[in-house]
Amino acid sequence: MQLIPSESLEIDRKARAIKPFFDLDLRPPDLRTCDFEDVVIGFNAERAVEEAARCIHCPDPAPCMLACPTNNDIPSAMWLIEHGRFNEAANLYHEHSSLPEICGRVCPHEALCQGSCVLNKHHTPVLCGALETFTVDYKRRTEGRIIPLAPPTGKRVAIVGAGPAGLGCAEQLLQRGHEVTIFDAKPAPGGLLVYGIPNFKLPKDVWLEKWQEFENAGITFVGNTYIGKEKTLDDLFHEEGFDAVFIGVGSEIDAKMEDTPGTDLHGVYEATDFLIRGNVDPRLLPASGTGGVTPLEIGKRVVVIGGGDTASDCLRTALRLGAQEVTCLYRRTEKEMPGGTKDRRFARDEGAKYRFLTQPVKFIADADGKLTAVECIEMKLGEPDAKGRRKPTPVPDSNFKVGCDMAVLALGYWPDPIIGRTTPDLETHDWGLITVDKKTGTTSRRGVFSGGDCVTGPDLVVTAMVAGRKAAWAIHKYLMNN
Ligand SMILES: Cc1cc2nc3c(=O)[nH]c(=O)nc-3n(C[C@H](O)[C@H](O)[C@H](O)COP(=O)(O)OP(=O)(O)OC[C@H]3O[C@@H](n4cnc5c(N)ncnc54)[C@H](O)[C@@H]3O)c2cc1C
Ligand code: SF4
Repeated sequence: MQLIPSESLEIDRKARAIKPFFDLDLRPPDLRTCDFEDVVIGFNAERAVEEAARCIHCPDPAPCMLACPTNNDIPSAMWLIEHGRFNEAANLYHEHSSLPEICGRVCPHEALCQGSCVLNKHHTPVLCGALETFTVDYKRRTEGRIIPLAPPTGKRVAIVGAGPAGLGCAEQLLQRGHEVTIFDAKPAPGGLLVYGIPNFKLPKDVWLEKWQEFENAGITFVGNTYIGKEKTLDDLFHEEGFDAVFIGVGSEIDAKMEDTPGTDLHGVYEATDFLIRGNVDPRLLPASGTGGVTPLEIGKRVVVIGGGDTASDCLRTALRLGAQEVTCLYRRTEKEMPGGTKDRRFARDEGAKYRFLTQPVKFIADADGKLTAVECIEMKLGEPDAKGRRKPTPVPDSNFKVGCDMAVLALGYWPDPIIGRTTPDLETHDWGLITVDKKTGTTSRRGVFSGGDCVTGPDLVVTAMVAGRKAAWAIHKYLMNN
């Protein structure tokens, strides 16, 4: 329900609907590819007020609220912003979301809140995401934010995985008075907010300031602890005495290019490894394994294989690291690409090229064993399948080579099955996804809850965070009844 009912507002909706629109300011492509700083130039107070005043205040429930996975009360926030009441608007976002400063920046707005804005019919939607970012940043700068804590209940919850799902769960549990410890395999908290999403989409200092909020609320973070290997989920209950466990371990195993010779060549990287080495402060890198401390040797001609948002992130990271020619190879056409159009537009503006209907079949080495080209075959699209997707098939004798000295495989992600394998009676499906009750995150194991990408497969920051919040309500109920 909206805090400020639209029906109570005396406004001229027709006049609002034709107000001029000014798009977000972006740093020019030739400047932004010289560094990893934010691409978007955020609103100032004046611009925020002007943009929020374009909202026509649809009847409750407004379509933008329904399209937002966390059901932000966007119309009320717009009204508060329009009247310069920025901190009140920020408080409203904090009520509905555990990570508003992150979601405002990284949500695919065009598919969620902004995509459903009725102004799309004849005009341009209100820039809800940028306004969310502005207000929450404003509050942090002017009065700061303290997570409101309830009196201690004496109950202890272990969260496995410090990504958006674990954080959403933690924030809500802290607010109900429970003690929270987060275990993560990586040295620093944040999950893909740190070890995935590049800085030019989500500056790391935004995250570090956010994390400070959690630390101030008394959360304990235990890094470099891979649950299922160094200790099991059962150890958390029996040896460490936790009363409940939330699993938010994401879905972070890079999909492999099966049956394609040469993927082990020097110069061929998996997307996660490439993005971590390219984007993350060396002090936060894991000592070994994916994204380990070995420096990245950036190529001059880089190909990125895949069609999702991760592929766009890799293209744009390669350009910032100094690659001279950066090309995306994708086996279907642009229409079938799963990634968002905004990231692709940014990648193109920055100089990335695209080759569609192109399937790599072999990575080729020079005499020193280093990658020198990728052999590809031309594809054509068949008839749509049951899901409406057109299957690509190779065009016979159409092989050709694309010269490159670096290739990045951005083919999607699989869940890590280790927790399922090492936790008796924890039901999983489809290669390790955890089976839950969708409304509560309850698993087949008593006292164990789960949510985020490890339940749904790769999705979004906002959906993972919402799943964590929902599970927190169920955990609270469980703890109070046991
Ligand atoms: C390159 C890239 C770019 C993306 N860009 C966007 C974007 O712009 N917008 C958007 O909305 N979404 C984006 N996403 C998706 C988004 O990041 C994820 O959907 C979201 O982070 C999922 O949250 P999560 O908490 O479920 O998992 P994660 O963020 O993956 O966090 C899981 C955490 O669990 C830890 N972990 C895993 N296994 C164990 C274990 N056994 N023991 C202990 N710890 C463990 C991991 O180290 C990690 O810290 C992107 C994803 C990638 C890969
Ligand atoms: S959380 Fe995401 S979808 Fe919801 S209002 Fe904010 S930017 Fe839009």
